[in-house]
Amino acid sequence: MDNNHQITVTSPLLPDLDEFHQLLKEIWDSKWITNNGSFHQRLEKALAEYLKVPYVSLFTNGTLPLITALQALRITGEVITTPYSFVATTHSLWWNGIKPVFVDIDPATGNIDPEKIEAAITPKTTAIMPVHVYGKPCDTKRIQEIADKYGLKVIYDAAHAFGVEVNGESILNAGDMSTLSFHATKVYNTIEGGAMVMHDEKTKKRIDYLKNFGFAGETEVVAPGINSKVDEMRSAYGLLNLRQVDDAIEARHQVAVRYREALRDVDGITFFDDMPGVKHNYSYFPIFIDADKFGMTRDELYFKMRDNGVLGRRYFYPLISEFTTYRGLPSAAPDNLPNAHRMADTVICLPMHHALSDADVNKIIAQIKR
Ligand SMILES: *Cc1c(COP(=O)(O)O)cnc(C)c1O
Repeated sequence: MDNNHQITVTSPLLPDLDEFHQLLKEIWDSKWITNNGSFHQRLEKALAEYLKVPYVSLFTNGTLPLITALQALRITGEVITTPYSFVATTHSLWWNGIKPVFVDIDPATGNIDPEKIEAAITPKTTAIMPVHVYGKPCDTKRIQEIADKYGLKVIYDAAHAFGVEVNGESILNAGDMSTLSFHATKVYNTIEGGAMVMHDEKTKKRIDYLKNFGFAGETEVVAPGINSKVDEMRSAYGLLNLRQVDDAIEARHQVAVRYREALRDVDGITFFDDMPGVKHNYSYFPIFIDADKFGMTRDELYFKMRDNGVLGRRYFYPLISEFTTYRGLPSAAPDNLPNAHRMADTVICLPMHHALSDADVNKIIAQIKR
């Protein structure tokens, strides 16, 4: 390892190149390269089994299933969501002409605070779009109670929650639909990619029409659909990556264990512990800096680490509610979102991936402790 070696926040999980090449050969021979091919069908089945969910529909990224879920459920008016996420969550509402209503987060989890949802409901509210931030499960039971009470739909942005289970049950079965991202930076990737998880065959069929321009047959178009069809190369790549994702998650787990051991007693640094009954995926390792106790601000530490070749990321800073498109909304006012602001101003996500070496982890820990 040379001195200029940079430790990046993530590193893509890549299939074995020879194995991938063999599958590519099969695809070349078949000349079927997209449009619900055999690898596409196999990957949907394999994912449904792995994730312990009834139905999966593949998408070309993690943003289009959000947009399509809102279309499929005919969501309009206002949707309650969190500002502490990746911009795509709120953008999917905007693309559907829906007004986002931001609700503050619970500082104990980083997820939308269910106790603050009811106060944000108006006669125009039609749905709730929570995010399982860092793969930490939302309080899905409480959110469903509120949704049922007011007749609202629930769409989970589960982009971080691949494989996460609570008491042996997939978190992806909560709500009306959940969406996943298989982007290169995520725990499980198909380079670019994503999926929607639904509970019944009828919805699966409708979603499959919607991601294929609305085609229900050779000449029949039943809805104004979009194009989000996944090709055979990415599907084959995804099948190979699915075989090694458990090992990758275990490697991430070991990194989390080392971080926690090393940082538990550092003054001014806090982090999340595992939640009881939850099977985590260790998709991110956020730490939170209390500048007074730590003796340095978040940004001072962040840039110092960066100068020394340790590239963390300030996920999620700035908050979505701070971007130009959204900051004029009444619910985007900072005094409506104090917990989200505090978290966004103090967070650094440490490097976290399957290929971090012991030496890398030691270097990262030493940088923080210095
Ligand atoms: C990555 C991500 C998305 C978007 O996924 P893409 O595959 O990049 O389109 C949406 N929401 C969250 C919370 C994400 O982290």
